[in-house]
Amino acid sequence: MSIPTLTNIDVRSKRVLMRVDYNVPIDDQGHIFDDTRIKASLPTLKHILDQGGRAILMSHLGRPKGIVESLRLKPVAERLAALLGAHVHYATDSIGEGVEQQVAQLKNGACLLLENIRFYAEETNNDETFARTLAQFGEVYVNDAFGAAHRAHASTEGVTHFIPIRAAGFLMQKELDYLAGAVSDPKRPFVVILGGAKVSDKIAVTQRLIEIADTLIIGGGMAYTFLKSQGGNIGHSLLDEENLSFAAEMINKAKTENKSLLLPIDHVIAEKFDPEDTRITSQVPDGWMGLDIGPETRDQFVEAIEQAGTILWNGPMGVFENAAFSGGTAQIGQAVAQATDHGAVSIVGGGDTATAVNLLGLKSRMSHISTGGGASLELLEGRDLPGVKALN
Ligand code: AMP
Repeated sequence: MSIPTLTNIDVRSKRVLMRVDYNVPIDDQGHIFDDTRIKASLPTLKHILDQGGRAILMSHLGRPKGIVESLRLKPVAERLAALLGAHVHYATDSIGEGVEQQVAQLKNGACLLLENIRFYAEETNNDETFARTLAQFGEVYVNDAFGAAHRAHASTEGVTHFIPIRAAGFLMQKELDYLAGAVSDPKRPFVVILGGAKVSDKIAVTQRLIEIADTLIIGGGMAYTFLKSQGGNIGHSLLDEENLSFAAEMINKAKTENKSLLLPIDHVIAEKFDPEDTRITSQVPDGWMGLDIGPETRDQFVEAIEQAGTILWNGPMGVFENAAFSGGTAQIGQAVAQATDHGAVSIVGGGDTATAVNLLGLKSRMSHISTGGGASLELLEGRDLPGVKALN
């Protein structure tokens, strides 16, 4: 799908209504733990401001039902101002007379952040009147909120019906280029690494990726459903009973299509998450849980990663939040970084995997870290994202 790009639009003296994804981890005191998403919006925002545009920013934060004081965007406005090195006007509401005045007074090269758009239920309901009201703020609409693009909400979809000049921001463009590029024309071998806890979240994406990839690596908690479907002993490890037959089906599909599907062959196990008493075994005994991939598995996975032309990684290899079970994720992360150093394209998707990569200090060595977990999965599944489709 070709979408209009921002570079072709003259934004000078124009009011640019821009959807950003500032849904950052924040505590009740307004302390922001990770400002990756704010930083990721800067190239688009700077471009608009440098061209003399007037940026009106909309974002959601959390899932409020009505106004929630701790989910106001004021701390985000402050962090944005610090990162931008310029004043950021902040509106305590996202519609209404006061906001209209602030928008009208906005000068060329200045920006205004509206209040958390989800304080209004009309946002998620994609209410037409609400969308029309928001749309009045902009002569140009830019969507840079990849993380929210899989939702047809008023600020991502509704407004586009009332603003004829629309474009994707640079972050949105980059996300689409990497993710859509990986599935449409990957440099081969294409190695997909899936992990994390839930099989159910990754059914559709596993189904599609097994067709496109050359090698599918499955680790983390989700691997145990696959191992169990082959009669393996998984003790008390994570199991998604409902998807046992799906897992068996995928293993058969890989065989018939001559794809390599790698599952763990050994495990770091513990009784009741006890990090003081871990063992390495090839089967998980009753009462024990597999909480990380074992050393032989790591070597096998690394060997496949070393050959890769393109790597897509979604989901940690173990309970990486605990040092006793983080070794597998760390070794896989190192291998992906090294393969990237040697020319492979690496794409990291999913919030937890991005966190793991950050913790490992490997962020700058990956080709692309997606800012959208749900959106990246839906795109990889081959689905149209409403927020992207609406830009056309
Ligand atoms: P997901 O949101 O599905 O990507 O899952 C991420 C979570 O999976 C992380 O919080 C990990 O701690 C967890 N996880 C990874 N491996 C395992 C495992 N073997 N057992 C239980 N949880 C796991």
